[in-house]
Amino acid sequence: MTRQVIFAFVVLITLGIFAWTIMRIIRYFRLTKPAFPVRDFGRRFRVMLDVAFGQTKIFRSPVIGFFHALVFWGFCIILLGSIEMVIDGLFGTDKALKVLGVLHDIIMASGDIFALLVALSIIIFLSRRLFLHIKRFQGIEMKHKNHVDAIIALSLILLLMISLLGMNAAYVAGHRLSGNVIHGVYPVGVVLSHFFTGMVPYHIHMVYEGCWWTHIILIFVFANILPYSKHFHVFMSVPNVFLSRLDPLGKLPNMDHVTKEVKLMLNPDTAFAAPATETPVERFGIKDVEDVTWKNYFDSLSCTQCGRCTSVCPANLTGKKLSPRKIIMDVRARMKEKGPGLVSQGKEYTDNKSLVRDYITEEELWACTTCNACAKECPININHPTLIVDMRRYLVMEEGSAPGEIKAVFSTIENNGAPWQYSPEDRMLWAKDLEMKVHLS
Ligand code: SF4
Ligand code: SF4
Repeated sequence: MTRQVIFAFVVLITLGIFAWTIMRIIRYFRLTKPAFPVRDFGRRFRVMLDVAFGQTKIFRSPVIGFFHALVFWGFCIILLGSIEMVIDGLFGTDKALKVLGVLHDIIMASGDIFALLVALSIIIFLSRRLFLHIKRFQGIEMKHKNHVDAIIALSLILLLMISLLGMNAAYVAGHRLSGNVIHGVYPVGVVLSHFFTGMVPYHIHMVYEGCWWTHIILIFVFANILPYSKHFHVFMSVPNVFLSRLDPLGKLPNMDHVTKEVKLMLNPDTAFAAPATETPVERFGIKDVEDVTWKNYFDSLSCTQCGRCTSVCPANLTGKKLSPRKIIMDVRARMKEKGPGLVSQGKEYTDNKSLVRDYITEEELWACTTCNACAKECPININHPTLIVDMRRYLVMEEGSAPGEIKAVFSTIENNGAPWQYSPEDRMLWAKDLEMKVHLS
């Protein structure tokens, strides 16, 4: 009974801290702007199965993608076993889900095998981080703390797997020695249980209890550390893929107010059509973190910092300052910095800084070719170019700031209706000597 009370207390503390963190994040989401409407659930579900659970984008790098997919699938399976541990801890049962019969055997067997596979994959990931100079993990945005953060999270996962394997092995060894029924199937546990040969049941039980508590406490600690680390993607990546922008890559969202103005100018009848939105324009584009949409912020929390986007960015590859990963990471960092002030003092709060310029320079923004290679490569369907274009919109529409060549194009479009410095009347002059009838008016 004491064990159950202690466990219930630990669960309460874990849930309390976790709920506090989530409430804090929800308050930050409330500061953001609306994005696209979330509909077409069937299609979204298919994208989630394909990209998130099928890990299709990850498999573009087949070898390391395979290990990453193993970790992801392993987590999903092992999570089921963790639910059973919580039930056992709270109610003092032994393998509460054994009522599921063969399904329980399958869950336990896959969890046991995946624990080993995940542990091996994590050792590979850790070795890569510690001993190999992987270009994708470098960049101006990747500070020492980002690498430490990744190493801590990977080490925690490794400990989780080792404690799970130890627990399974001790469970098999203990039950075999006492003649009790072993609930579930543990292919790896059976092999590892031979290490316990010669130990007395009491010591085996102590190892089991030690591994059980280590595993469950690590899960609780991990769950509460994740929201503050890059490994928050463990929670966020699947929903982020579900909430993907479904428009084709390269299709930029129009600004409703501007679209209406243009339609008005082209056809006065549209002035009486239902307005796209009634809210007044507070800002054109994105200047600071309160101008981003909830999806931009969701993306920033989900980013795995894997660097696949930056590794294919033509601007980055040709030595420009732009790194699409940095753009996404900056949104998260800026919300962390300004969010508390906005929450406590309202939207008038200012710290005399902004996302554009203090975090992301104009040089970075104008280096983007909007080729969408980053968005295509991102394993969790983050769309960088729409965010970049929105920041450019702010620069152009509110500050009139753009590189000289682009300003020249803007002014010729305004004056001539085309990006070239010729009068519209001269548009067909190229055809005047042709031996065919061309109407020049
Ligand atoms: S869209 Fe922009 S940021 Fe993305 S890969 Fe192309 S140039 Fe780089
Ligand atoms: S934006 Fe996507 S591709 Fe880029 S680092 Fe984040 S998760 Fe990786």
